[in-house]
Amino acid sequence: MKFKTDFLIIGSGISGLSLALYLSKLVPDNKILLITKEALQDSSTFHAQGGIACVWDDTDKFENHIKDTLIAGDGLCDEAVVRKIITQAPDRINDLIELGLEFTKKENGDYDLGKEGGHSERRILHVNDQTGKSVEQILIDNVKKLNNVEIKEYWCAVNLYAENFKCYGAYVLDQESDEIHNIAAKATILATGGAGKIYLYTTNPDISSGDGIAMAYRAGVIIANMEFYQFHPTCLYHPYAKSFLITEALRGEGAVLTTIGGKEFMHNYHPSKELAPRDIVSRAIDSELKKSGDDHVLLDIASKKDPNFIKSHFPGIYENCLKFNIDITKEPIPVVPSAHYCVGGCLTKIDGSTKVKNLYVIGESACTGLHGANRLASNSLLEGLVCSYECAKTLSKGIKDRKINEFKEWEPGNAVPSTEAVIISQNWDEIRRFMWNYVGIVRTDLRLQRAKKRINLLLDEINQYYWDFKIEKNLVELRNLATVAKIIIVSAISRKESRGIHYNLDYPNKSEMSRPTTLRRPW
Ligand SMILES: Cc1cc2nc3c(=O)[nH]c(=O)nc-3n(C[C@H](O)[C@H](O)[C@H](O)COP(=O)(O)OP(=O)(O)OC[C@H]3O[C@@H](n4cnc5c(N)ncnc54)[C@H](O)[C@@H]3O)c2cc1C
Repeated sequence: MKFKTDFLIIGSGISGLSLALYLSKLVPDNKILLITKEALQDSSTFHAQGGIACVWDDTDKFENHIKDTLIAGDGLCDEAVVRKIITQAPDRINDLIELGLEFTKKENGDYDLGKEGGHSERRILHVNDQTGKSVEQILIDNVKKLNNVEIKEYWCAVNLYAENFKCYGAYVLDQESDEIHNIAAKATILATGGAGKIYLYTTNPDISSGDGIAMAYRAGVIIANMEFYQFHPTCLYHPYAKSFLITEALRGEGAVLTTIGGKEFMHNYHPSKELAPRDIVSRAIDSELKKSGDDHVLLDIASKKDPNFIKSHFPGIYENCLKFNIDITKEPIPVVPSAHYCVGGCLTKIDGSTKVKNLYVIGESACTGLHGANRLASNSLLEGLVCSYECAKTLSKGIKDRKINEFKEWEPGNAVPSTEAVIISQNWDEIRRFMWNYVGIVRTDLRLQRAKKRINLLLDEINQYYWDFKIEKNLVELRNLATVAKIIIVSAISRKESRGIHYNLDYPNKSEMSRPTTLRRPW
């Protein structure tokens, strides 16, 4: 079927939902269609635990938060963007409070500000250890009240329609009817999140397959800094636990990392020990695991805090670990590092605008210059909020000059229903494994070249499959995942230094000159 809308928002995490809210307020007479490939709440946003970084208290200063962000970004941040996002944080946090979000308070009524690695002050506003769940729910409740926003769940964007660096809308798979719709829009906004499913171990939910980055790349958007994939040091290690993150806030409250034998090791790697930046903690664990041959290390809060404190501050982690018979008030938690955050992405300005006209990218899929070579903890929900606000302002300004241009319908050609689902799962598995082993926390040129050879073979196979068989969501995701994997590999090969979270044993030092990595199709 053909649809027309003023604004097509793809994704229902913090960025897509906030954009719908801000835009609806600014242009209430325009139609907004918000689509999402699973249920509304299926997003990384829902899983965020730690909170949102914001200078809130008189003891803290914007300059401190800016400095911490620039230090983490290791020479690659865009300072103007960093300043704009950080100084806007209190206003955007107030927007959430006005919508009804109740951040956790102390007994005296002040907000309970948490501390995370890389932050020089306590500045993380949170809702216990389930901030994302509360943020997502408040946003969903408020978006559902809007008259000019239509929501479609289980609609998966397959590809954008773009010609000569101008975007007209998107082809979208309706998973209930199996139809591919043609949606024309004045502006299309990708708010599709990260790509953690590229790696064997990840904290990300299943939706994080890099769809937006791959679609934008095919449409001609410049993709930047994709070699910087942040690994979270502590994901629960258990055969049946799928992607469960153990928040950094636990280390902020004194939890220590030890080997399985109970030996602390972080003092050997960084003066801030457990509160060193994430990349250093991840590399330290990786190095301990390589030395010992163990498959996990331990994170111990039980011997540092009393059980009531642990249960009241970390109820989500306490309950979830208990499901796997781990009582975190009595014993240490087995953990491994996992792919967590896509620091690079589609090169955009702060308002999400790209080099492709009428195409905007916000949130984790975008690379605005806030994070540089490494993301400071809890800056990403903030980026989603600020950039959706800026994007809404830009979109509303030019509204009279924008037109809806229709484009040709999807051509299924001779595609037949797939009878070989095993090909998809096999290819997916292969990519995740070699990305983990060859393009993971510590890289070498040899491993990267091996990964490149493999991804080229797989991409040929997957592209063939894509054109021969009827489109289904798994196939769309696999194709995007493979495209983004190749972008990461090529970006990592081109960086002949170690900087931020990109660490290559063949070039262990940092170059004097810092430069971003940019790629545009064809490379
Ligand atoms: C476990 C975990 C803990 C985290 N903790 C924190 C934290 O404490 N603080 C912090 O700042 N950040 C945290 N992060 C990072 C942060 O949650 C994300 O960066 C942020 O939520 C991204 O928001 P987003 O709106 O860009 O994307 P998401 O929230 O991931 O939403 C993406 C949306 O796009 C949809 N989508 C994707 N592809 C398609 C497609 N092809 N068609 C249609 N829809 C599509 C998805 O279904 C989803 O609705 C955490 C992340 C994880 C995974």
